[in-house]
Amino acid sequence: MPSLTKEVMKRLDRGATIGIIGGGQLGQMMALSARYMGFHTVVLDPTPGCPAAGACNQQVIADYDDKEAIRSIAQMSDILTYEFENVDADALDSVRDIVRIPQGTDLLRVTQNRVAEKTFINNHGIETARWQEVSSFAQLEKAVEVIGLPAVLKTAEGGYDGHGQKVLRTADDVQSVHEQWGENFEQSVLEGFVNFEYEASILVSGNGSEYVTFPVVKNNHVNNILHTTVAPAYGSYPSALDEQVNKQAHELARTLAAGFELAGTLAIELFVCADGRVIVNELAPRPHNSGHYTIEACDFDQFDMHVLGIAGWSLPQPKLLSPAVMINVLGQHVEPVFKASALHPNWHVHDYGKAQSKHNRKMGHITVLGDDTQELLTEFKNSGCWE
Ligand code: AMP
Repeated sequence: MPSLTKEVMKRLDRGATIGIIGGGQLGQMMALSARYMGFHTVVLDPTPGCPAAGACNQQVIADYDDKEAIRSIAQMSDILTYEFENVDADALDSVRDIVRIPQGTDLLRVTQNRVAEKTFINNHGIETARWQEVSSFAQLEKAVEVIGLPAVLKTAEGGYDGHGQKVLRTADDVQSVHEQWGENFEQSVLEGFVNFEYEASILVSGNGSEYVTFPVVKNNHVNNILHTTVAPAYGSYPSALDEQVNKQAHELARTLAAGFELAGTLAIELFVCADGRVIVNELAPRPHNSGHYTIEACDFDQFDMHVLGIAGWSLPQPKLLSPAVMINVLGQHVEPVFKASALHPNWHVHDYGKAQSKHNRKMGHITVLGDDTQELLTEFKNSGCWE
Protein backbone atom coordinates (compact mmCIF):
# COMPACT_ATOMS: atom_id res chain seq x y z
CA MET A 1 0.00 0.00 0.00
CA PRO A 2 1.39 3.43 -0.85
CA SER A 3 2.47 5.64 2.01
CA LEU A 4 0.33 8.72 2.28
CA THR A 5 2.61 11.57 1.39
CA LYS A 6 0.56 14.67 2.03
CA GLU A 7 1.80 18.18 1.94
CA VAL A 8 1.24 20.50 4.86
CA MET A 9 -2.07 22.26 4.26
CA LYS A 10 -1.82 25.99 3.70
CA ARG A 11 -4.78 28.32 3.68
CA LEU A 12 -5.47 29.57 0.17
CA ASP A 13 -6.14 33.31 -0.14
CA ARG A 14 -9.23 34.61 -1.89
CA GLY A 15 -8.39 35.57 -5.47
CA ALA A 16 -6.02 32.59 -5.79
CA THR A 17 -6.48 30.24 -8.75
CA ILE A 18 -7.80 26.69 -8.49
CA GLY A 19 -7.00 24.41 -11.44
CA ILE A 20 -9.57 21.70 -12.12
CA ILE A 21 -8.75 18.64 -14.21
CA GLY A 22 -11.94 17.61 -16.00
CA GLY A 23 -14.66 19.97 -17.16
CA GLY A 24 -17.85 17.91 -16.89
CA GLN A 25 -20.73 18.63 -14.54
CA LEU A 26 -18.69 17.97 -11.39
CA GLY A 27 -16.00 20.41 -12.55
CA GLN A 28 -18.74 22.91 -13.43
CA MET A 29 -20.38 22.75 -9.99
CA MET A 30 -16.98 22.91 -8.23
CA ALA A 31 -16.09 25.99 -10.28
CA LEU A 32 -19.41 27.68 -9.41
CA SER A 33 -18.71 27.21 -5.69
CA ALA A 34 -15.12 28.41 -6.10
CA ARG A 35 -16.26 31.41 -8.07
CA TYR A 36 -18.75 32.77 -5.57
CA MET A 37 -16.20 32.26 -2.79
CA GLY A 38 -13.86 34.59 -4.66
CA PHE A 39 -11.39 32.15 -6.22
CA HIS A 40 -10.34 32.08 -9.87
CA THR A 41 -10.62 28.81 -11.74
CA VAL A 42 -9.02 27.25 -14.80
CA VAL A 43 -10.19 23.92 -16.20
CA LEU A 44 -8.37 21.32 -18.31
CA ASP A 45 -10.71 19.57 -20.72
CA PRO A 46 -10.43 18.48 -24.36
CA THR A 47 -13.88 19.79 -25.35
CA PRO A 48 -14.16 23.52 -26.08
CA GLY A 49 -17.25 24.81 -24.30
CA CYS A 50 -17.39 21.80 -21.94
CA PRO A 51 -19.89 22.15 -19.04
CA ALA A 52 -17.27 23.75 -16.74
CA ALA A 53 -15.96 26.18 -19.38
CA GLY A 54 -18.67 28.80 -18.79
CA ALA A 55 -18.21 28.66 -15.04
CA CYS A 56 -14.40 28.94 -15.11
CA ASN A 57 -12.23 31.96 -15.84
CA GLN A 58 -10.08 30.03 -18.32
CA GLN A 59 -9.89 26.68 -20.10
CA VAL A 60 -6.84 24.72 -21.23
CA ILE A 61 -8.10 22.67 -24.18
CA ALA A 62 -6.21 19.38 -24.19
CA ASP A 63 -6.56 15.74 -23.18
CA TYR A 64 -6.56 14.98 -19.46
CA ASP A 65 -3.37 12.94 -19.74
CA ASP A 66 -1.48 15.47 -21.89
CA LYS A 67 1.62 16.09 -19.76
CA GLU A 68 2.39 19.46 -21.38
CA ALA A 69 -1.17 20.61 -20.68
CA ILE A 70 -0.96 19.44 -17.07
CA ARG A 71 2.21 21.51 -16.74
CA SER A 72 0.42 24.53 -18.26
CA ILE A 73 -2.55 24.32 -15.90
CA ALA A 74 -0.15 23.79 -12.99
CA GLN A 75 1.70 26.98 -13.93
CA MET A 76 -1.57 28.92 -14.08
CA SER A 77 -2.84 27.62 -10.71
CA ASP A 78 -2.08 27.92 -7.00
CA ILE A 79 -3.64 24.53 -6.26
CA LEU A 80 -4.84 21.67 -8.45
CA THR A 81 -7.85 19.40 -8.01
CA TYR A 82 -9.79 16.99 -10.24
CA GLU A 83 -13.36 16.01 -10.95
CA PHE A 84 -12.72 12.32 -11.65
CA GLU A 85 -10.35 9.69 -10.32
CA ASN A 86 -8.74 8.43 -13.52
CA VAL A 87 -6.20 11.23 -13.64
CA ASP A 88 -2.55 10.30 -14.28
CA ALA A 89 -1.15 10.42 -10.72
CA ASP A 90 2.47 10.35 -11.97
CA ALA A 91 1.78 13.37 -14.19
CA LEU A 92 0.38 15.22 -11.15
CA ASP A 93 3.41 14.23 -9.05
CA SER A 94 5.68 15.61 -11.76
CA VAL A 95 4.25 19.13 -11.28
CA ARG A 96 4.26 19.20 -7.48
CA ASP A 97 7.31 21.46 -7.59
CA ILE A 98 5.22 24.20 -9.24
CA VAL A 99 1.73 23.73 -7.78
CA ARG A 100 0.20 22.46 -4.55
CA ILE A 101 -2.06 19.41 -4.72
CA PRO A 102 -3.90 19.50 -1.38
CA GLN A 103 -5.56 16.10 -1.91
CA GLY A 104 -2.15 14.52 -2.54
CA THR A 105 -1.82 11.76 -5.13
CA ASP A 106 -1.99 8.71 -2.87
CA LEU A 107 -5.74 9.24 -2.52
CA LEU A 108 -5.92 8.98 -6.31
CA ARG A 109 -3.70 5.92 -6.47
CA VAL A 110 -5.75 4.11 -3.83
CA THR A 111 -9.12 4.92 -5.37
CA GLN A 112 -8.00 4.17 -8.93
CA ASN A 113 -7.39 0.52 -8.17
CA ARG A 114 -9.90 -1.80 -6.52
CA VAL A 115 -7.17 -3.96 -4.94
CA ALA A 116 -5.48 -0.93 -3.34
CA GLU A 117 -8.84 0.53 -2.34
CA LYS A 118 -10.21 -2.61 -0.67
CA THR A 119 -6.86 -3.20 1.06
CA PHE A 120 -6.92 0.37 2.40
CA ILE A 121 -10.53 0.01 3.60
CA ASN A 122 -9.94 -3.39 5.26
CA ASN A 123 -6.69 -2.17 6.88
CA HIS A 124 -8.80 0.50 8.60
CA GLY A 125 -11.01 -2.19 10.11
CA ILE A 126 -13.90 -1.54 7.71
CA GLU A 127 -15.87 -4.25 5.96
CA THR A 128 -16.05 -4.75 2.18
CA ALA A 129 -17.59 -7.67 0.29
CA ARG A 130 -15.28 -10.70 0.61
CA TRP A 131 -12.81 -10.41 -2.25
CA GLN A 132 -9.77 -11.95 -3.90
CA GLU A 133 -7.37 -10.56 -6.47
CA VAL A 134 -7.34 -12.55 -9.72
CA SER A 135 -5.52 -12.14 -13.01
CA SER A 136 -5.77 -15.62 -14.50
CA PHE A 137 -8.53 -18.15 -15.02
CA ALA A 138 -6.77 -20.60 -12.67
CA GLN A 139 -6.82 -17.95 -9.90
CA LEU A 140 -10.45 -17.20 -10.68
CA GLU A 141 -11.44 -20.86 -10.27
CA LYS A 142 -9.66 -20.97 -6.89
CA ALA A 143 -11.28 -17.70 -5.80
CA VAL A 144 -14.72 -19.04 -6.74
CA GLU A 145 -14.08 -22.02 -4.42
CA VAL A 146 -13.34 -19.64 -1.53
CA ILE A 147 -15.94 -16.95 -2.20
CA GLY A 148 -18.68 -19.06 -3.76
CA LEU A 149 -21.35 -18.06 -6.28
CA PRO A 150 -22.96 -15.71 -7.05
CA ALA A 151 -20.00 -13.38 -7.23
CA VAL A 152 -19.04 -10.26 -9.13
CA LEU A 153 -15.86 -10.07 -11.22
CA LYS A 154 -14.56 -6.52 -11.66
CA THR A 155 -11.48 -5.21 -13.41
CA ALA A 156 -9.25 -3.52 -10.83
CA GLU A 157 -8.94 -0.35 -12.89
CA GLY A 158 -10.97 1.73 -15.28
CA GLY A 159 -14.49 0.45 -14.55
CA TYR A 160 -17.37 2.82 -13.86
CA ASP A 161 -21.19 2.55 -13.79
CA GLY A 162 -20.92 -1.25 -14.04
CA HIS A 163 -18.48 -1.26 -17.00
CA GLY A 164 -15.76 -3.91 -16.67
CA GLN A 165 -18.02 -6.07 -14.44
CA LYS A 166 -19.58 -9.50 -14.74
CA VAL A 167 -21.99 -11.16 -12.35
CA LEU A 168 -21.13 -14.86 -12.14
CA ARG A 169 -24.09 -16.95 -10.99
CA THR A 170 -23.33 -20.43 -12.36
CA ALA A 171 -20.37 -22.61 -13.30
CA ASP A 172 -21.20 -21.80 -16.94
CA ASP A 173 -20.81 -18.09 -16.20
CA VAL A 174 -17.37 -18.81 -14.74
CA GLN A 175 -16.43 -20.82 -17.83
CA SER A 176 -17.57 -17.99 -20.09
CA VAL A 177 -14.89 -15.77 -18.50
CA HIS A 178 -12.30 -18.12 -19.99
CA GLU A 179 -13.95 -17.83 -23.40
CA GLN A 180 -14.09 -14.04 -23.24
CA TRP A 181 -10.97 -13.09 -21.28
CA GLY A 182 -8.67 -16.08 -21.97
CA GLU A 183 -6.22 -17.73 -19.53
CA ASN A 184 -4.54 -14.52 -18.34
CA PHE A 185 -6.28 -11.20 -18.01
CA GLU A 186 -5.84 -7.79 -16.47
CA GLN A 187 -5.73 -7.43 -12.69
CA SER A 188 -9.27 -7.94 -11.38
CA VAL A 189 -11.10 -8.74 -8.17
CA LEU A 190 -13.70 -11.38 -7.49
CA GLU A 191 -16.19 -10.13 -4.92
CA GLY A 192 -18.86 -12.04 -3.07
CA PHE A 193 -22.35 -10.97 -4.14
CA VAL A 194 -23.89 -8.88 -1.37
CA ASN A 195 -27.61 -9.40 -0.81
CA PHE A 196 -28.06 -5.84 0.29
CA GLU A 197 -31.32 -4.38 1.53
CA TYR A 198 -30.48 -1.07 -0.15
CA GLU A 199 -27.58 0.94 -1.54
CA ALA A 200 -26.56 4.10 0.25
CA SER A 201 -23.76 6.62 0.28
CA ILE A 202 -22.21 9.15 2.58
CA LEU A 203 -20.01 12.12 1.80
CA VAL A 204 -17.21 13.27 4.02
CA SER A 205 -15.18 16.43 3.55
CA GLY A 206 -11.89 17.42 5.13
CA ASN A 207 -9.32 20.19 5.21
CA GLY A 208 -6.40 17.89 6.07
CA SER A 209 -7.14 17.76 9.79
CA GLU A 210 -10.89 18.37 10.43
CA TYR A 211 -13.57 16.13 8.92
CA VAL A 212 -17.30 16.71 8.52
CA THR A 213 -19.94 14.33 7.23
CA PHE A 214 -23.16 14.75 5.27
CA PRO A 215 -26.30 12.67 5.91
CA VAL A 216 -26.55 9.06 4.72
CA VAL A 217 -28.66 8.88 1.56
CA LYS A 218 -30.38 5.99 -0.20
CA ASN A 219 -29.51 5.37 -3.86
CA ASN A 220 -31.40 3.50 -6.54
CA HIS A 221 -29.56 2.42 -9.70
CA VAL A 222 -31.05 1.48 -13.07
CA ASN A 223 -28.74 -0.35 -15.49
CA ASN A 224 -25.91 0.37 -13.01
CA ILE A 225 -26.40 4.13 -13.42
CA LEU A 226 -27.58 6.19 -10.46
CA HIS A 227 -31.26 6.90 -11.01
CA THR A 228 -32.54 8.45 -7.76
CA THR A 229 -31.18 9.58 -4.41
CA VAL A 230 -33.36 10.01 -1.34
CA ALA A 231 -32.04 12.20 1.47
CA PRO A 232 -31.95 11.35 4.28
CA ALA A 233 -31.99 7.57 3.80
CA TYR A 234 -34.54 6.84 6.52
CA GLY A 235 -37.44 9.26 6.25
CA SER A 236 -38.69 11.15 9.27
CA TYR A 237 -38.91 8.28 11.78
CA PRO A 238 -35.64 6.32 11.83
CA SER A 239 -35.87 2.91 13.51
CA ALA A 240 -33.27 1.64 16.00
CA LEU A 241 -31.71 -0.30 13.11
CA ASP A 242 -31.56 2.87 11.00
CA GLU A 243 -29.82 4.64 13.88
CA GLN A 244 -27.29 1.81 14.04
CA VAL A 245 -26.64 2.02 10.26
CA ASN A 246 -26.34 5.78 10.50
CA LYS A 247 -23.80 5.58 13.31
CA GLN A 248 -21.66 2.99 11.50
CA ALA A 249 -21.70 4.98 8.25
CA HIS A 250 -20.62 8.22 9.95
CA GLU A 251 -17.90 6.43 11.93
CA LEU A 252 -16.43 4.66 8.94
CA ALA A 253 -16.53 7.90 6.91
CA ARG A 254 -14.52 9.69 9.60
CA THR A 255 -12.07 6.78 9.88
CA LEU A 256 -11.42 6.75 6.14
CA ALA A 257 -11.13 10.55 6.00
CA ALA A 258 -8.59 10.51 8.82
CA GLY A 259 -6.73 7.63 7.11
CA PHE A 260 -6.37 9.75 3.98
CA GLU A 261 -5.83 13.02 5.89
CA LEU A 262 -8.58 14.04 3.54
CA ALA A 263 -8.69 17.44 1.89
CA GLY A 264 -11.82 18.04 -0.19
CA THR A 265 -14.82 15.76 -0.57
CA LEU A 266 -14.81 11.95 -0.63
CA ALA A 267 -17.88 9.85 -1.50
CA ILE A 268 -18.34 6.42 0.03
CA GLU A 269 -20.76 4.00 -1.64
CA LEU A 270 -22.33 1.52 0.75
CA PHE A 271 -24.36 -1.66 0.78
CA VAL A 272 -26.72 -1.81 3.76
CA CYS A 273 -27.82 -5.32 4.75
CA ALA A 274 -31.12 -6.31 6.37
CA ASP A 275 -29.32 -7.04 9.67
CA GLY A 276 -27.90 -3.50 9.75
CA ARG A 277 -24.40 -4.41 8.53
CA VAL A 278 -22.81 -1.62 6.50
CA ILE A 279 -20.37 -2.73 3.77
CA VAL A 280 -18.27 -0.34 1.71
CA ASN A 281 -18.65 -0.90 -2.03
CA GLU A 282 -16.34 1.77 -3.41
CA LEU A 283 -14.86 5.23 -2.92
CA ALA A 284 -14.78 8.30 -5.14
CA PRO A 285 -12.17 10.94 -4.21
CA ARG A 286 -14.39 13.84 -5.26
CA PRO A 287 -17.94 15.17 -5.08
CA HIS A 288 -20.43 12.57 -6.27
CA ASN A 289 -23.67 12.32 -8.22
CA SER A 290 -25.48 11.07 -5.08
CA GLY A 291 -24.50 14.35 -3.36
CA HIS A 292 -26.13 16.73 -5.85
CA TYR A 293 -29.15 17.06 -3.55
CA THR A 294 -26.87 19.01 -1.14
CA ILE A 295 -26.97 22.04 -3.46
CA GLU A 296 -30.53 22.91 -2.44
CA ALA A 297 -31.08 20.71 0.61
CA CYS A 298 -28.02 21.64 2.71
CA ASP A 299 -26.67 24.94 3.97
CA PHE A 300 -23.22 24.10 2.55
CA ASP A 301 -23.14 21.72 -0.41
CA GLN A 302 -20.60 19.05 -1.37
CA PHE A 303 -18.91 21.40 -3.86
CA ASP A 304 -18.64 24.27 -1.36
CA MET A 305 -17.13 21.85 1.09
CA HIS A 306 -14.73 20.44 -1.50
CA VAL A 307 -13.46 23.93 -2.31
CA LEU A 308 -13.23 25.01 1.35
CA GLY A 309 -11.41 21.77 2.16
CA ILE A 310 -8.78 21.94 -0.59
CA ALA A 311 -8.35 25.65 0.18
CA GLY A 312 -7.49 24.68 3.77
CA TRP A 313 -10.30 26.77 5.31
CA SER A 314 -12.19 25.79 8.45
CA LEU A 315 -15.14 23.57 7.65
CA PRO A 316 -18.68 24.14 8.88
CA GLN A 317 -20.70 21.05 9.84
CA PRO A 318 -23.22 20.92 6.95
CA LYS A 319 -26.90 20.87 7.93
CA LEU A 320 -29.72 19.21 6.05
CA LEU A 321 -32.33 21.96 5.72
CA SER A 322 -35.00 19.74 4.16
CA PRO A 323 -35.48 16.13 3.02
CA ALA A 324 -35.00 15.88 -0.74
CA VAL A 325 -35.14 13.58 -3.73
CA MET A 326 -32.71 13.86 -6.66
CA ILE A 327 -33.32 12.22 -10.02
CA ASN A 328 -30.82 12.09 -12.89
CA VAL A 329 -31.75 13.39 -16.32
CA LEU A 330 -30.18 11.12 -18.95
CA GLY A 331 -30.15 11.79 -22.71
CA GLN A 332 -33.44 9.93 -23.20
CA HIS A 333 -35.14 12.04 -20.48
CA VAL A 334 -34.26 15.50 -21.74
CA GLU A 335 -37.39 16.11 -23.84
CA PRO A 336 -39.97 14.81 -21.30
CA VAL A 337 -38.19 16.59 -18.43
CA PHE A 338 -38.23 19.97 -20.06
CA LYS A 339 -41.90 19.55 -20.96
CA ALA A 340 -42.83 18.36 -17.46
CA SER A 341 -40.74 20.95 -15.63
CA ALA A 342 -43.11 23.70 -16.76
CA LEU A 343 -45.84 21.94 -14.74
CA HIS A 344 -43.62 21.46 -11.69
CA PRO A 345 -42.33 24.83 -10.48
CA ASN A 346 -41.06 23.13 -7.31
CA TRP A 347 -38.43 21.22 -9.35
CA HIS A 348 -34.85 22.49 -9.24
CA VAL A 349 -33.78 21.55 -12.76
CA HIS A 350 -30.04 21.53 -13.47
CA ASP A 351 -28.99 21.44 -17.11
CA TYR A 352 -25.25 20.76 -17.49
CA GLY A 353 -25.23 22.38 -20.94
CA LYS A 354 -23.71 19.41 -22.77
CA ALA A 355 -23.71 20.01 -26.51
CA GLN A 356 -24.54 16.41 -27.41
CA SER A 357 -27.33 14.39 -25.87
CA LYS A 358 -26.86 10.61 -25.92
CA HIS A 359 -28.79 7.67 -24.50
CA ASN A 360 -27.71 7.13 -20.86
CA ARG A 361 -25.48 10.23 -20.86
CA LYS A 362 -25.94 12.35 -17.73
CA MET A 363 -27.36 15.63 -19.07
CA GLY A 364 -28.67 17.16 -15.87
CA HIS A 365 -30.54 16.37 -12.67
CA ILE A 366 -33.58 17.53 -10.75
CA THR A 367 -33.85 18.02 -7.00
CA VAL A 368 -37.14 18.44 -5.18
CA LEU A 369 -37.45 19.36 -1.52
CA GLY A 370 -40.28 18.22 0.73
CA ASP A 371 -40.96 16.49 4.01
CA ASP A 372 -42.48 13.37 2.46
CA THR A 373 -39.86 11.80 0.19
CA GLN A 374 -42.26 8.97 -0.81
CA GLU A 375 -44.67 11.59 -2.12
CA LEU A 376 -41.83 13.27 -4.06
CA LEU A 377 -40.90 9.93 -5.65
CA THR A 378 -44.56 9.42 -6.65
CA GLU A 379 -44.58 12.91 -8.18
CA PHE A 380 -41.57 11.94 -10.33
CA LYS A 381 -43.13 8.58 -11.26
CA ASN A 382 -46.31 10.30 -12.45
CA SER A 383 -44.46 12.99 -14.39
CA GLY A 384 -43.47 10.85 -17.39
CA CYS A 385 -39.76 11.45 -16.63
CA TRP A 386 -39.14 8.34 -14.57
CA GLU A 387 -37.91 5.62 -16.95
P1 AMP B 1 -19.63 -0.57 -8.80
O1 AMP B 1 -19.13 -0.13 -10.14
O2 AMP B 1 -18.66 -1.37 -8.03
O3 AMP B 1 -20.19 0.59 -8.02
O4 AMP B 1 -20.90 -1.51 -9.07
C1 AMP B 1 -22.05 -1.05 -9.78
C2 AMP B 1 -23.30 -1.64 -9.18
O5 AMP B 1 -23.27 -3.07 -9.26
C3 AMP B 1 -23.47 -1.34 -7.68
O6 AMP B 1 -24.07 -0.08 -7.50
C4 AMP B 1 -24.38 -2.49 -7.26
O7 AMP B 1 -25.73 -2.25 -7.60
C5 AMP B 1 -23.86 -3.66 -8.11
N1 AMP B 1 -22.83 -4.41 -7.36
C6 AMP B 1 -21.50 -4.17 -7.41
N2 AMP B 1 -20.81 -5.01 -6.61
C7 AMP B 1 -21.72 -5.81 -6.03
C8 AMP B 1 -21.64 -6.88 -5.08
N3 AMP B 1 -20.46 -7.32 -4.61
N4 AMP B 1 -22.79 -7.47 -4.69
C9 AMP B 1 -23.99 -7.05 -5.17
N5 AMP B 1 -24.13 -6.05 -6.08
C10 AMP B 1 -23.02 -5.43 -6.52
